[in-house]
Amino acid sequence: RARKRFGQNFLHDPHVIGRIVKAIAPKPTDCLVEIGPGLGALTEPVAAAAGKLTVVELDRDLAERLQQHPQLASKLQIFQADAMKFDFEQLVQPGQKLKVFGNLPYNISTPLLFHLFEFADSIENMHFMLQKEVVDRMTAPHGSKTYGRLSVMTQFYCQAMPVVQVGPGAFKPAPKVDSAVVRLIPFNKAMRADVDPAILNRVCLEAFNQRRKTLRNCFSNFATAEQISALGIDPTLRPEQLPVSDFVKIAQWLATQDVATIANLQDNLLLEDNDES
Ligand code: SAM
Repeated sequence: RARKRFGQNFLHDPHVIGRIVKAIAPKPTDCLVEIGPGLGALTEPVAAAAGKLTVVELDRDLAERLQQHPQLASKLQIFQADAMKFDFEQLVQPGQKLKVFGNLPYNISTPLLFHLFEFADSIENMHFMLQKEVVDRMTAPHGSKTYGRLSVMTQFYCQAMPVVQVGPGAFKPAPKVDSAVVRLIPFNKAMRADVDPAILNRVCLEAFNQRRKTLRNCFSNFATAEQISALGIDPTLRPEQLPVSDFVKIAQWLATQDVATIANLQDNLLLEDNDES
């Protein structure tokens, strides 16, 4: 039986499974990591193509099942653990980055993605099944209605593109929403802007909590309209009009301000952190 609290919706459509595995394109030389293998719908074909992989499954019964699986067990390194707290760095081999994939539990997808972004420098690519609405937000360009904190943070770390669309019927039990697989390719650290991601995240929270306001109003806690203008950014714009590079500029500037300003901002935002922005 599927456990709702673990966000369990098991894939059963062989056509959809085939398309996802093709998008992952597993090879024997890859260092593959699956989050939430469940009953093994993706694990089996990936193991068949790659020979081995690591899985992180929270549900003790499911992890045990995989451990007992006659054909699969010998190909798997199984961690019965919470992927949101898991240290993915421990899996990295010298000179080889990870390829992470999974049909993620939808109830924790945003915090799980943020946790994974912390390991971006150790990851070659990621393929995740998510609610289509979440994939839309991750890949939204600035200027679009769905552009928000998840878009900025995703696109700061990664190149992001949808690769497979999936209807509810591919799962048991069927979820209420459409799903999609997103491909994430982390940028090289050298290519990424030099900014503290925690400050960038806070700037995004501040901005998108007040979606309909202009930047000068959103940021009135820590910046004047003149200070925003001095960065080459029009303070009368609204946050969804701002490209990722401008959010980075604001965060870089904020990092040069006095500690009290940043601490004040953190206090305000700790209370307001949510998934919807
Ligand atoms: N991969 C399987 C499939 O496609 O049929 C199962 C996908 S199901 C949507 C999500 C899986 O993630 C379940 O097996 C669930 O037990 C597991 N899971 C839920 N929360 C988790 C967490 N925090 N860490 C690791 N796995 C988790």
